[in-house]
Amino acid sequence: MQRLAILGATGSIGLSTLDVVRRHPDRFSVAVLAAATSVDTMVALCREFRPKIAVMSDSGAAQRLRNALVDAEDIEIDSGEAALERAAGSADVDTVMAAIVGFSGLRSAVQAARSGKRLLLANKEALVSAGRVLMDAVQTGGGVLLPVDSEHNAMFQCLPTDGLGRPDMARVEKIVLTASGGPFRGRTRDSLHNVTPEQACAHPNWSMGRKISVDSATLVNKGLELAEACWLFSRMPDQIEVVIHPQSVIHSMIRYVDGSVLAQLGQPDMRTPIAYCLGWPERIEAGVAPLDIVGTGRLDFETPDLDAFPCLRHAYEAIMIPGGMCVFNAANEVAVAAFLSGQLAFTQIDHCIAETLGGVDCIEPQSLAAVEALDAEARSRATHYVHHHGHRS
Ligand code: NAD
Ligand code: MG
Repeated sequence: MQRLAILGATGSIGLSTLDVVRRHPDRFSVAVLAAATSVDTMVALCREFRPKIAVMSDSGAAQRLRNALVDAEDIEIDSGEAALERAAGSADVDTVMAAIVGFSGLRSAVQAARSGKRLLLANKEALVSAGRVLMDAVQTGGGVLLPVDSEHNAMFQCLPTDGLGRPDMARVEKIVLTASGGPFRGRTRDSLHNVTPEQACAHPNWSMGRKISVDSATLVNKGLELAEACWLFSRMPDQIEVVIHPQSVIHSMIRYVDGSVLAQLGQPDMRTPIAYCLGWPERIEAGVAPLDIVGTGRLDFETPDLDAFPCLRHAYEAIMIPGGMCVFNAANEVAVAAFLSGQLAFTQIDHCIAETLGGVDCIEPQSLAAVEALDAEARSRATHYVHHHGHRS
């Protein structure tokens, strides 16, 4: 029986994970559920999965959860960052699904890695901001890091690995990272000034949380994924090619030195990569409808338009600067929150990132504390941008 901690249990990835878990009661038990403040969903999940520990991000939410679960005395309910870290490293846990959104998921992911857990990483922002620290933590802990992000999961599936999940890159010539292009593919930058959060979040192929949906619309997500692939597979950015593939059927490809290209295909349904990580090295049923290849009809590919989507260009620049992607990520998190709350226009997201990158002295952070300091400085710069250039709504 694999004992799971699901961090970010009430989100898009968390609920998809629990949907797969529900199909395999003989394989998985849920030891920990953690979320920010969605108490109602957590009450239902706690009643169904009976975790040992439930963690909310603040004490008010934890108290409301306690009140709703007075009859479930066997569930220990806690709150705050330290409790989240303890739960991620708990001796009652074998596998941690890191599915908190954004930089707030970093500490718990690092703790899981240091404790030698099998780490299922959806929270790409953690790896992008603290690549060295997180990869070192995996090595020190002696556990396994399995990528949940569909593209990286596809790459992982197309690469030979050893028993510890370490991919063999020896014969790889190039990684081809595919992108849907998001809801604004084909548009010019000038036509994007007044797009609304609802339009940005209406992804053509995937149903996801709001933050990553905006990241997909700006192509920031592909920049984050480029950095993610560099850390996971020890690549330089020029060894990875980003290709727009609007159907989202091929989730990424590996080109080998002999000219072979291996691709992983599937429905745009996160339960496939989630099940692959949960079951690895075996495959388990995920509840995903079979891919109708004839119905799909055609697969298209194009190069990304960096003029319409300058965030991806900024990511290419930032990735070459030590610590640059930590700053890029922090600026983006601030800008996306401001866009979603009506304070910034869509096309100010890339300005905010560029100004922040220009205004912070980047250095490769060697410790978790150094990552947090760099992130905080970048956030403060980006917040300054929002106050000066944003409009209150
Ligand atoms: P979401 O917004 O739907 O869910 C986020 C979850 O994190 C919620 O359960 C929320 O309660 C929890 N959370 C937020 N802040 C927290 C905090 N401070 N402490 C504890 N819990 C907190 O987001 P999502 O779409 O599920 O994405 C989660 C992560 O997975 C992101 O890093 C995203 O980039 C990545 N990812 C998502 C998808 C997808 O299809 N949704 C695909 C690939 C990667
Ligand atoms: Mg992805």
